[in-house]
Amino acid sequence: MEIKNAIFLDRDGTLNKGIVKENEEKFKLRPPHTLEELHIFQDISYLKNFHGRYHLFIVTNQPDIKKGFQTMEFNQFINSSILKEANITKIYSCFCLETDTGCDCYKPAPGMIFNAVTEYNIDIDNSYFIGDTWRDIGLSKNVNLKSVLIDRGHYKKMESDFLERGLTPDYKITSFLELGNIIK
Ligand SMILES: [Mg+2]
Ligand SMILES: [Zn+2]
Repeated sequence: MEIKNAIFLDRDGTLNKGIVKENEEKFKLRPPHTLEELHIFQDISYLKNFHGRYHLFIVTNQPDIKKGFQTMEFNQFINSSILKEANITKIYSCFCLETDTGCDCYKPAPGMIFNAVTEYNIDIDNSYFIGDTWRDIGLSKNVNLKSVLIDRGHYKKMESDFLERGLTPDYKITSFLELGNIIK
């Protein structure tokens, strides 16, 4: 049987620990840049419960490579570390900057989701997006995916980002262990 349902996953701050950005006016998280900063959340192993019924896709903005803060090699190392823990069908990455013109994939832009839908014949109505920032929830709304906010302890500091944009997630969790109550 062809799998048409999908769980789309943000990466940094969702599957691995997001690192707090210094010297920012607003609270922001960034990807790990070094091995010392890399921490994969253990609860992602719960995602194995969805194997065979859902495709798992990572959908991630990675502007730090173009900005020169991150190497492509370390970015790939983070990905391969995650792939050891979870059976991910494909990783979609946007390497653009938010300000780049002609990019249709920097979240909350829908490009990466549209690519997955086309390549894997995904049924949006029975699919979910799980992420930790307003960009993930905004993207979910833009493409009519059911949205799950995962609060890894930073949500309160980012709440204004959601309120400003009128974004309310469909579900809120603090760990993937709670997903069984939401995704059947
Ligand atoms: Mg994130
Ligand atoms: Zn892009």
